[in-house]
Parts: sequence; C-alpha cells; structure tokens
Amino acid sequence: MKTPHKARKRFGQNFLIDQQIISQIVSAVGAVPKDNLIEIGPGQAAITEHLVKTCPSMAVLELDRDLVRFLTAKFGHIPTFNIHSGDALSTDFSQFYDGRKLRLVGNLPYNISTPLLFHLLTIGELIHDMHFMLQREVVDRLSAAPGNKSYGRLSVMIQYHCRVMPLIPVPPESFSPAPKVQSAVVRLKPYSAKPITAKNEQTLSQLVNLCFQQRRKTLRNCLKSYGDRVSAVDGLIDMGLRPEQLSVSDFVTISNAINYEER
Ligand code: SAH
Repeated sequence: MKTPHKARKRFGQNFLIDQQIISQIVSAVGAVPKDNLIEIGPGQAAITEHLVKTCPSMAVLELDRDLVRFLTAKFGHIPTFNIHSGDALSTDFSQFYDGRKLRLVGNLPYNISTPLLFHLLTIGELIHDMHFMLQREVVDRLSAAPGNKSYGRLSVMIQYHCRVMPLIPVPPESFSPAPKVQSAVVRLKPYSAKPITAKNEQTLSQLVNLCFQQRRKTLRNCLKSYGDRVSAVDGLIDMGLRPEQLSVSDFVTISNAINYEER
C-alpha cells in the first residue's frame, strides 16, 4: 500500500495495513461510548478511524507533528475528539483521569515499549486496561511463567501489577513498512486489588533486578549483598532455587522479609 506519509524510522513507525488484524484489535478492545479511551501513537489512524465510531470522545497522543496535522485535518470536525501532541514517555497520563479509569490502546514503537509500560504502571490504579501491539518476544516475556526461558525481570514486575493476556499474533506483512520481527497484541489489566502486595515496591524492584542479573546462581548467592537481612528469608523460600524458578509471590515474600524498615 502506498502511504501518504513517509514512515519515519526514528519514530518507530510501522503502520498497520492488514484490515483483518485491525478489526481483531478493535473488537478485542470492545470500546463503548462512555469509555475514557486514549490511543498512543495513532499514526495515520488505521485503528483510530474504527475506535472513533463507537467512542467519538476518545483522545489520541502523537509525537510526530506531521501526523498531528494529518489527524487534525481528518478528525478536527468531531468536537469531542481530543488530539494531543507529545511524547508518551514524558506525558503525565493522570491528566486524562476524570473519574473514569483510562483505557489505553496503541501500536507502539517497539523501542519505547518497555519504558512506557513502567511509566504507565506508576499510575496503574487509574488504568482500566491496555491493549498494546508489541514485539512478540516482549509479549512472551510479559506473560512467561517461572521456568520458561522468557521469564525474567519484565515478567515478574508486570505480572506483579497486571493480569497479562496475549491475544493476537501479528506477522510482519501486516505492517508497512514490515518490521523485521514478529508482533503480538497483548491485553494488560492492572489489578484493582493485587493478589499479593509488597510492603515496599522499590525493594521488590531492586530485588528482582539483582536476582535476574545473576539468574543462573542460587538464591543464596544472589542475596549475598543483603547481608544479615537474608536470615529473615530462611524457612520461607528454598535458598537453593534459582531466580528463574521463583514465582511472583515468592519474590514478594522475599522482598517483604528483607525489607525490615517497614516491619
Ligand atoms: N497506530 C498506527 C501507527 C503505528 S506506528 C498504526 O497502527 O498504523 C507508531 C506510532 O507511534 C507512530 O505514529 C509514531 O509517530 C508514534 N510515536 C512514536 N513515538 C512516540 C512517542 N514517544 N509518543 C507518542 N507517539 C509516538
């Protein structure tokens, strides 16, 4: 397909051209008119033009100013449609909260997907759900269970905050230009009540980082730098296990045990 806009690599632009995939995404989102729907990186509106039909009060956030002009020309006549020009990574998404939790949608540039997920999780309690197109390898990491080769820091930290549902596998030909990698759409739903809560999320995050920097070592070795605090873990978790064998709840248990400031 010839696109009116020349795709810019630096903005991670891979436009969706596969109508079947687009309609699968739109029905997975299942927007209703009263939703607080926000699309990140709408590009040339491949998904937007469908979403706006059910949800004319949706908002979009686009970094490329040429595309902002394109979107203004296309949707400017809809008075309720909100166009924001800016970088998703530095956007304070809490500004979109108006008593209705956010529903976020995006075929995201792959280079910003992980930092953006962490950025969004800082306001997880204001988000109803997120539907994102990501590199398939990233979706595998988000949804991996302990013992799986994709299981790591990203799996633990995202699964601590959200329910993760891989939905739609998407091949490179569905985009123009075609990316070099396979993609997939995933649904992330932040827990309104987490199954297990860390007393201190920073401790959890540091612990998980430390452990997965040395994923082949036993827990006993990984936790050496915590010194005496580790004795609090004794009897709770088998110290002979390796980080990749521990569940999210195991990590929270360890984090709560070594986080003695708040005990
Ligand atoms: N959703 C469209 C476009 C996908 S390409 C489609 O499916 O066809 C990714 C889009 O994200 C582009 O429009 C790009 O300009 C935009 N983008 C890139 N980095 C961004 C950022 N940091 N914040 C917001 N939008 C960004």
